[in-house]
Amino acid sequence: MINISKMKNYFFLIGLVLICLKTKAQVFYGMNNYTQYHQGNLPIIISVPHGGLVAPTSIPDRTCNNPTNVTDSRTIELARQIDTALFNLTACRPHLIICNLRRTKVDCNRNISEGACGNSQAETVWSEFQHFIDTAQFIAQNQYSGKALYIDLHGHGKMPYRLELGYGLSGTSYNSTDSVLNTASNIAASSIGDLVHTNVSGSSHSELLRGKNALGTMLANAGFPSIPSQQSPNTGGFPYFNGGYNTFNHTCIAQGNTVNGLQIECDSIVRASYLNRKKFADSVASILVRYIFIHQNLNLLTNCGLISDSKDNSDLEVHSIRIFPNPVSDFFQISSEDNQGNYEIVIKNNFGALVFKANSHSKFNVSHLPSGLYFVSMISNQQQVWSGKLVKQ
Ligand SMILES: [Zn+2]
Repeated sequence: MINISKMKNYFFLIGLVLICLKTKAQVFYGMNNYTQYHQGNLPIIISVPHGGLVAPTSIPDRTCNNPTNVTDSRTIELARQIDTALFNLTACRPHLIICNLRRTKVDCNRNISEGACGNSQAETVWSEFQHFIDTAQFIAQNQYSGKALYIDLHGHGKMPYRLELGYGLSGTSYNSTDSVLNTASNIAASSIGDLVHTNVSGSSHSELLRGKNALGTMLANAGFPSIPSQQSPNTGGFPYFNGGYNTFNHTCIAQGNTVNGLQIECDSIVRASYLNRKKFADSVASILVRYIFIHQNLNLLTNCGLISDSKDNSDLEVHSIRIFPNPVSDFFQISSEDNQGNYEIVIKNNFGALVFKANSHSKFNVSHLPSGLYFVSMISNQQQVWSGKLVKQ
C-alpha cells in the first residue's frame, strides 16, 4: 500500500533539491580556498578584496612598501547579504569574488608586487582573484551585451559616516563645474566613462556622478549619505577614496575594458550589525536594479537569466550558431548559418586565461584541455560576433 504522506514528503524533498540546484550559484575556489568565485547570472559583479580573516603562517606578513593592513570588517558578510537581496528581488544572482585571506597576507586591491610582496603563494592568490574578476566580467558582458556593472566593495572607518563612491576621479575634481566634469579628459578618466556614451537616459557625466539619477543620489535618498551625489556634490574638504587598483584596472578606465564600475567604501554604520547590513543590502539591490533600468534599459525584474539563455549556445534550438558535440571529449565543430566567412575561435578557461586559439576550420581539437567549463568566442574582423559555453569531458 502506498503511503501518501511519505510520497508527499518525498516529492517535497525532490522539489527542494531541484530548487536548491537551480538557485545556488556555481562556486569556484582558488588555491586552498583562499579565493572564491560565485558565478552568477546578473550583469552585476561584486568583488571583496579586504574582508578576509584567514592568516596562514606559511605566508609571511606583508612588510614591503609600508603596507596598509587594515581589514574591511564584515564586507564579505555585506556582499553575501547584497547577493541574497538581489536574489530575493530578481531570482538571479550577481557574480561574487571574495578573498578569504587576511590583508596582512595579500592585498588584492594593489598591484601584484605591492599586494603580494614577492611571496609566491600570495602572488597565486592575487592572480586568482584578478582572473575571477576577468572571468565574471567576460561572462556578464557576453550575457548582457556589454552592460555589466562592477563594484569593488570596501569598508572605511573615517568620519563622516557616508558612502564614498570611487569613480577614479580625484576628490578635488568634484569642486569643478559640471561642464569641466563633462570634458572628454574627465570622462576618459572615469570608471563610468563608457556609460556616458551608452546610457539611454540621456545623462551627462556630471549627471551620472551627482544628478538626480546618480547612484550616490539614489543611495542618499534611501537614507545612506553618499559622495558624490546631488545632496553632496563634492567632498566638503574631507578625505575621500577615489578607487584603488581594481577600479583602475577592471573598469573602462583601463584600455580595452568597457565595463562600467566603481569602488564603494562603506562606512562602519552600514556594516555594524546583521540588521544594518540587511537594510543597506536591500536598498542597494533595489537601487542597482533601478539604476540599470534607467540608464541601460535592462529590466532585471523580468529579464535576468533569460538574456543569458538567449546568448548561451548550450541551448541548441534557439540559434543559428552552435557547438557540437557539447559536452566534447576531443573534437568539436561549429555550425554556423550566418557566419560562413573566415573567423577565429578563442577559448578561455574559468580563470580567464586563454587556452586555445585557432582559425576557422572544420574541426577543433581540444583533447588536450582538462575537464571543465570553458568560454568560446568567435572573432570576425577583430570583433567578437558570438560567444558560448563549452563543456570539456
Ligand atoms: Zn578596502
